[in-house]
Order: sequence, then structure tokens, then C-alpha cells
Amino acid sequence: MGLTVNVDKTIDKKEENVKMLIIGSGPAGLSAALYAARAALEPTVLTGMTMGGQASLTHLIENYPGFPEGLGGAELGDLFKVQAERFGAKVVYDTAINVDLSERPYKVEAYNTNYLADTLIITTGANPRHLNIPGEEEFTGKGVSYCGTCDGFFFKDKEIVVVGGGDSSLEESIFLTRFATKITIVHRRDQLRGGKILQDRAFANEKINFIWDSVLEEITGEGQVSEVIIKNVKTGEVNPFSTEGVFIFIGHIPNSQLFEGQLELDPNGYLVANSFMETGKPGVYAAGEIADSHFRQVITSAGMGAAAAIQATRFLESAN
Ligand code: NAP
Repeated sequence: MGLTVNVDKTIDKKEENVKMLIIGSGPAGLSAALYAARAALEPTVLTGMTMGGQASLTHLIENYPGFPEGLGGAELGDLFKVQAERFGAKVVYDTAINVDLSERPYKVEAYNTNYLADTLIITTGANPRHLNIPGEEEFTGKGVSYCGTCDGFFFKDKEIVVVGGGDSSLEESIFLTRFATKITIVHRRDQLRGGKILQDRAFANEKINFIWDSVLEEITGEGQVSEVIIKNVKTGEVNPFSTEGVFIFIGHIPNSQLFEGQLELDPNGYLVANSFMETGKPGVYAAGEIADSHFRQVITSAGMGAAAAIQATRFLESAN
């Protein structure tokens, strides 16, 4: 049974009927928009808080085919948007705040408009995972960050700590060497998860050091980060470590809260979709990182978005 959400019509909100609503504007959402627009469905895309999604916060994307020199994440997002708009997609700077999937057309409430959508493509992506240690929340924006591209400049000539051993941690650390004088990557194991190319680059970079088998227990300072408490998980030894910044790259949490109780989620909170990007509801599709905890690449997300739009187009053809 779908959760019934009362879309508030008492305030002066527009109501719009659309053939397709796409929630999210990352590579999956904008690729879905391109394909749906070319099928004359005039899709509406709700951008969410970050136009272009997480990929737009990436400084340099070097593994999206067709751009041999690489290009900025925001630039790639803009190109996706322009291409989708060229064929009639409508990109709206608004965020979905309630959905009711109990019957078609599906109801989606955004801040400015209430939508009634024949089909829905969910591409809400994921947000950075937090460590949930003392000081993390207090010092966010005061030395604690989850985005090197956004905040790196504030750490010019400073020494910083990076947490995590995956591709994001390595890639962002290499980027941050443009600003910081010294980067210490703290990783909870003695082996990195990130790919070999990035590992080799990080090991070869004189500004990057590693503290293995260790976790942060606390972030401290006065108004601004000045120290972290680091614990060696093998020896149990705890030591303070002076630093002016803490960048945390330890994976992501899917943005699926809106759909809890209405669509199937896996144990980690990702939406469950089959290989046709179909969720359990007819005409509702999920694409990109919200439905993919495994690949999470711009190209795989874009592919999933395109597939979802093709499938939704076929669904509408057979439904009408
Ligand atoms: P990830 O691959 O899940 O790596 C997360 C890292 O954080 C792991 O090293 C993990 O340790 C560590 N970690 C997780 N929870 C922790 C905690 N509570 N405390 C301390 N450490 C913790 O995440 P990601 O690096 O964001 O990458 C996500 C996906 O995007 C991956 O598929 C990745 O390949 C992809 N990506 C690709 C590129 C690229 O190709 N250029 C760039 C960025 C991301 P363990 O290793 O011990 O689990």
C-alpha cells in the first residue's frame, strides 16, 4: 500500500500535468531528459539542490568518453542540460518534497508546483556519508568539508587530513595538493580501496602521506578545526594530530527518504530496480546512483537514465 501524502492545495501553488517527471539533475536525470525529450515527451526535470548532481562538484572528470582531455563536472552537467533542453526538456530549479505513488497519475509536490505525472524517473542520487564523531557537525564549514572542489581554495598553504581509502579520497587528495602544503590520508585499513592509477598518483605525490589502520575519534578546535584525535584500530593507541582541515570521503547515502514505504529499498537504502530500471510501480523508474550502489560512474548513471527513458516511452505507448 502506498503512503498517502496530502498535497497541500491551500497555499497558492501551481498544478501541472506532465507526461514525465524526472526527479534529479545528475547524469542519470539529464540523460533521461534527453532521451525522453527526443521521444517528444516534453519531460520536466526537477533539479534538486545541486543542478548537475554530485558529478557537478567533481573538479575534473577524466573517464567520460568523448572528452579525451577530461572536463569539469559542472561543465559536463551544463552540456547535458543544454542538450536535453535543445529537444524540449524543461529543467526547473525546484525540489520534490512529497510524493504519493498510490495511483497514476503520480503526485509529486515540489516547493513551487504540484505535479501530476504519468511517468516518473527517480534520479535523486546520494549524499556524502558522515563519520558521526564529536566535532564533525560543529566544524562543518569551519574546517570540515565533504567537497574538495568546493572548499579546497580555503586551505591554501594549510595542512589537512583526508579520511577514506576509496577513489574519491585519492582523487580529491590529489586535487587538494594544489592548495594544501601537506595532506595526511587516514584510512581504517592498511590497503586502499581506490583504483591503481589513483593509488600510484597518490603514492608518487610528495605532499600526500598516509596513516594506516586508523580512524578519527574526534575533531576539535576553537571556532575552527585545529586538531583531530586519531586511534590506531590495531594497537588501540590514541594520539592527537594537529590539522587545519578535515576532508571526509567515506562513501555515500542514497537520497531515498521520499520513497520509503512506497517503493522497495535494499538494506542500504538504495531503490530496487530491475534491468529495465523498473521499480515495483508501473511507470516509475529509478536510475543512477539512487539505484546503483556498485558502479556509481557518470557513464553508468547516464546509461541507466537513457534506459529508463526508453522504457518509460514504451510504457506510455502501450498504456495509451
Ligand atoms: P567507496 O569506494 O565506498 O570508499 C569509501 C572509503 O571510505 C573506503 O576506503 C572505506 O573503507 C572508507 N570508509 C567507509 N566508512 C568509513 C568510516 N565510517 N570510517 C572510516 N572510513 C570509512 O566510496 P567513494 O570513494 O566515494 O567511491 C564511490 C564510488 O565512486 C566507487 O565505486 C568509486 O570507484 C567511484 N568513484 C570513481 C572515481 C573515478 O573513477 N575517478 C572517482 C570517485 C569515485 P574500506 O576500504 O575499509 O571499506
